[in-house]
Amino acid sequence: MIRRMASIGRFAPSPTGPLHFGSLVAALGSWLCAHADGGVWRVRIEDLDPPREPAGSDREILDQLAALGLAGNGETLYQSTRHQAYAVALARLAADGAAYPCACSRSDLEPFAGVHPEICVRDHAPGLPAAWRLRVPAGSVIGFDDALQGPQRQDVATAVGDFVLRRADGFWSYQLAMVVDDAWQGITEVVRGADLLDSTPRQILLQRALGLPTPRYLHLPVATDAEGRKLSKSSGDRPLGAAPLTSLRAALAFLDLTEAAAAPAAAPAALLDAARASFCRSSLPQVAARVAPRDFA
Ligand SMILES: [Zn+2]
Repeated sequence: MIRRMASIGRFAPSPTGPLHFGSLVAALGSWLCAHADGGVWRVRIEDLDPPREPAGSDREILDQLAALGLAGNGETLYQSTRHQAYAVALARLAADGAAYPCACSRSDLEPFAGVHPEICVRDHAPGLPAAWRLRVPAGSVIGFDDALQGPQRQDVATAVGDFVLRRADGFWSYQLAMVVDDAWQGITEVVRGADLLDSTPRQILLQRALGLPTPRYLHLPVATDAEGRKLSKSSGDRPLGAAPLTSLRAALAFLDLTEAAAAPAAAPAALLDAARASFCRSSLPQVAARVAPRDFA
């Protein structure tokens, strides 16, 4: 029997509102993958976009996780404390010639279907604000084997092109911050919703450019409403209202862990223990999306 290396997993919500069913599925799935291997599970608050973050949302999410029995190991990492690390990573890419300043506007890129051309449309006047982009050379084809969704492949140069690492207003991109922090926290397996499948090749490209290891990936089905729209905090979908035990059972059933969902347990911790004991990645549904139970959508 091959023993798996103990995983270091993570759940990384942005504090834009309370957890809803879709984020519970991602939290639970990543918690199970990490703990089933005897590993650890870290919580990271991705608070890099203050205008979209109502005050106290981080606390609310952490309280919800605690009530669900899903407490992170070690301290919660706040991305707002990590600007220096992102700046160091960007400086390294710039020194390598892998990143460049860009003053092109969204409308400048419209004739190119949003994909940045090889040379900037608009000159960057030194001293004026500019975004920073990663140079994605032609032929940057990235493939990876997702543990649930199977083999994936993307030509990043044609699908996305040179992508933004830091916006002109100084905000760090999700891609750069995430890659730097996954490495910093020693994450070995990224478990999250399948809506992020197509940004994974960009992250792998960045890991390579920064000399960082690439973790394993497992993308869980995204929870949708009956019309197939992804549940999201920002579109005002219903936050988790049910009792923690009821929510956990629904999320386990959503992940086809039906035996665990029905296990006798009087509290979240006992239910999670039972689910961890019987958990196996191959039981997870190999689909990219699935409708959430009616009470949670
Ligand atoms: Zn440009």
